Amino acid sequence: MPNSINRQILLASRPQGDPGPDNFKLVEAPIPVAGPGEMLLKTQWLSLDPYMRGRMSDAKSYAKFVEIGDPMVGATVSKVVASNIARFRAGDIVLAYSGWQDYAISNGEGVVVLDPSKAPVQTALGVLGMPGMTAYVGLRNIGLPKPGETLVVAAATGPVGSMVGQIGKIKGCRVVGIAGGPDKVKHLTEELGFDIGLDHRSPDFAAELKAACPKGIDVYFENVAGKVWDAVLPLLNDFARVPVCGLIANYSLTGLPEGPDRSPMLMRNILTKRLRLQGYIVWDFKEQTSDFLKEAGGWLKEGKIKYREDVVEGLENAPEAFMGMLKGKNFGKLLVKVE
Ligand code: NDP
Repeated sequence: MPNSINRQILLASRPQGDPGPDNFKLVEAPIPVAGPGEMLLKTQWLSLDPYMRGRMSDAKSYAKFVEIGDPMVGATVSKVVASNIARFRAGDIVLAYSGWQDYAISNGEGVVVLDPSKAPVQTALGVLGMPGMTAYVGLRNIGLPKPGETLVVAAATGPVGSMVGQIGKIKGCRVVGIAGGPDKVKHLTEELGFDIGLDHRSPDFAAELKAACPKGIDVYFENVAGKVWDAVLPLLNDFARVPVCGLIANYSLTGLPEGPDRSPMLMRNILTKRLRLQGYIVWDFKEQTSDFLKEAGGWLKEGKIKYREDVVEGLENAPEAFMGMLKGKNFGKLLVKVE
């Protein structure tokens, strides 16, 4: 790549249903120049995350969508190339929000300098970053796992789910993880130390989940919705807690699914079992960031937490990798190595 070019991946159009290659456009622009109070960042790692599907849509949500023709948004680990901001120096490695592009200008807001001697810098996008913190605050504030309880989580090999299950084990729970395909299921018990791994693609999934939870479910960490939720709901115990973190099976729905209205059944379960379902966004708990970094950093050092990365080389491959993630093709935290 010639040094004067900034490759950018723009949102070309809004997807109807599953995103496709035509929704993205790779363009080349000149490298921007940092003005007063600004710095120029070069992307090293780009994080790909399920929330980006929401940003492609102009439906009202908790965050502003991407405009058509703008670069896709995303967290990055970047290198400071030139800085007109006193607290950042050329050469610093930072956690930033440059989006899907080689270079970006930043005014320093929300940018954090990383210490490469403490942990591999890209962990700031995964186990020690937003996904890890999502697991931590969801359990700490809503899931409230207690020793001996049964905790269930799906998308369980991803950065959120794998952290949820491992924290569940640290807290003394019996942990049932759900994932797609035999390799991922094996990883749950053999690498992450979960008690049971189940494949949501199995035709007998609902019966297998019931057999895996003979005492019912006390904490269900909701990452996916869809048929996993359908199988979980009847198994929830009185006073079960459900942090509603993500609904990835629904992200590309274009309307409500066919079939009978099941909301009376859901409401009856919530009432009679006194269930606690609470949606949250990780930054609702941003004041807990330092607790998270301290505690999760400690677990990582002590070997109590493991993490897995799925690294894709080259910015140009980001759209395909992102579309694959929505179908479960990633195995671990999905990262693009940009340089
Ligand atoms: P992952 O890396 O786990 O990737 C998503 C995974 O979802 C896929 O790999 C796939 O795993 C699984 N999946 C996709 N479709 C389905 C389906 N129909 N049924 C069951 N599983 C499916 O992602 P993250 O760990 O980054 O995120 C997990 C969840 O957490 C997402 O829903 C995300 O939106 C949410 N989230 C919420 C945040 C918040 O603040 N509330 C912040 C961060 C994430 P498999 O092959 O195992 O099925």
